[in-house]
Amino acid sequence: MNYKSTRDQSVNVTAAQAIAQGISKEGGLFVPEKLPSYSYADLCALSHMDYVDRAQRILSDFLTDFTQEEIQESVTAAYAPDKFGEHPAPLALQQTGEDNMYLLELWHGPTCAFKDMALQLLPHLLTKSLHKTCDGKTAVILVATSGDTGKAALEGFKDVAGTKMLVFYPEDGVSPMQKRQMATQEGANVHVCAIEGNFDDAQTGVKKIFTDPAVAEILAKNNMLFSSANSINWGRLLPQIVYYFSAYCDLMSTGEIDHEGEEINIVVPTGNFGNILAAYYARSMGLPVQKLICASNSNNVLTDFIRSGTYDKNRHFYTTISPSMDILISSNLERLLYHMTGGDTQKVSGWMAQLAHEGRYTVDETVLRQIQSLFYGGYCNDEDTERTIKMMFDTEHYLCDTHTAVAINVYKQYVEQSGDRATPTVIASTASPYKFAASVLQALEGGRPNGDEFAMVESLSALTGTAIPAPILALKEKGVRFNRVCDTASMLEVVFDTLGIR
Ligand SMILES: *Cc1c(COP(=O)(O)O)cnc(C)c1O
Repeated sequence: MNYKSTRDQSVNVTAAQAIAQGISKEGGLFVPEKLPSYSYADLCALSHMDYVDRAQRILSDFLTDFTQEEIQESVTAAYAPDKFGEHPAPLALQQTGEDNMYLLELWHGPTCAFKDMALQLLPHLLTKSLHKTCDGKTAVILVATSGDTGKAALEGFKDVAGTKMLVFYPEDGVSPMQKRQMATQEGANVHVCAIEGNFDDAQTGVKKIFTDPAVAEILAKNNMLFSSANSINWGRLLPQIVYYFSAYCDLMSTGEIDHEGEEINIVVPTGNFGNILAAYYARSMGLPVQKLICASNSNNVLTDFIRSGTYDKNRHFYTTISPSMDILISSNLERLLYHMTGGDTQKVSGWMAQLAHEGRYTVDETVLRQIQSLFYGGYCNDEDTERTIKMMFDTEHYLCDTHTAVAINVYKQYVEQSGDRATPTVIASTASPYKFAASVLQALEGGRPNGDEFAMVESLSALTGTAIPAPILALKEKGVRFNRVCDTASMLEVVFDTLGIR
C-alpha cells in the first residue's frame, strides 16, 4: 500500500515515509492509493477479537512496509490496559434510554480526550517509521496547541526513546485544567513553554522554526531532525478508523446488529475534520454506514459547506464552550475533496490556493451532490449546548461534555428533519465532562460556578454522583514542572535551550 498526495499526482511514498514526513513537500496531504475492502465475513471475524487484535488487523492493511511484529508491538503498547483505567477496552459504548442512540466514549485514556486514541499509538508508528527512513536520528517534535492536542501528545511521547518534544501554548488561551495538565507533565524528554500571545502566534512561531533551513542544519549537525504530531499526519488518522469498526462489531456482539449490511449512522463533533474523515474511510472500506453526521458549534463553516458547496472562512470567529471545535480551517477536508473528485489533484490544488488567497472556494455540483449523499451537516450554539447537557442528565442521567453535547443536539436535528428514527446511531463522545467542569456545571445549575478548577470538579462529582476520572484527580497532587513563559521572539531560544544545542 502506497500513499499519494492530494496536490501532486507524481508523489508516491510508503506508509513509513508518509508518517515520518507528516505532510507532502508541496503542501498536500498523504492519502492511501486504494482502500482495503471488508466483507460481512470479515466483520464477523473482527467481532470475535479484542480491541488490540482489531487494531492489528486493520493497521496491517495500511502499513504494508511494517512487519507484523512491529505493528503488534505498537498496538499492544498503545492500548495497554493500565493506560485506559479499568476499562476492558480503550473505549466504551454506552446505550442511552433512547433505543437507537449509542455514545462511543473515546476519552478513557490518560488525558481524558479522544485524541489519546491516536496519540498513544502515533509515537510507536513514528519512531518505527523514522527507523526505516532515517535511522539513528533523534526526532524533535514541536507542537503549538490550544489545549487538548498538547497534553495528549505529551502523554503519548513521554519517555519514548529517540524523541524529544516541546509544546508551546498561549499563556491565556487554554483552560485552567488544560494548563495544569501540561505544567505538571512528567517524562524526561518532554518540555512545555507558555508564550505571551494567542494560539495563532504560537502556531506561526512553530511553523517559522520548523521551516527555517538554518535551524534544520543545526539540528542535522546534532543528529536530530524535526517531525510532526499534528492532526494531518496519516499516523493520527489511521488509529481512528479502528474504533468505528470496533463500535460496529460491538453492536454485532450484543445482537443489536443482526444481519448482513445493516446500517448505522455516525455522528461526530467536528473541528479539523480528522475524526469524521476516519469514519468516512471506514465506510469506504465496507462498514455499513448510512449517514455521516458532521456536528459543528457556532463556527459553522462546515455546516454551510455541506449545505451549499461553498467553503468560506471569512466570518466571525466565536470563542465557544466547546473550544476544541473552534476552527475555521478544517485541514482534513482536503482529503475528502481528493476522494470526491476521484483523485483530481489539480482541482484540489486550485481550491486550496483559493482558500489561501481569498478565504473561500466553491466545489462543482457533482462533488456537492456526492458529499450530500454521504454527509449531513448541522450546528448548535452555546445556549443549546448547555440545554442539551441538562436534558441528557435530567432525562437519561447521562453526563456529557460540551463537545459531545453539540453532537447529540445535531443528531436530534437530523432525526427531526429526516424522520430517520430506526437506524442505530453511534455518537462519538470526545471528552470527559470533567475536562470542562465549569461549563458543564453552569449548564446543570445555571449561573457562574465559583472556586478553582478542583473545587468545580468536586462540585460536579457531588452534584451528579459520577466519579472524577483518575488522571484528573491525580493532577491535584502533582507538582508544577514547567512555568517558563517566553515572548514569541524568543521561541527559537527556548528550542535550543531545551535541546541543549546551539
Ligand atoms: C480535537 C477535538 C474535537 C475535534 O476533532 P477533529 O478531528 O479535529 O474534527 C472534538 N472534540 C474534542 C474534545 C477534541 O479534543
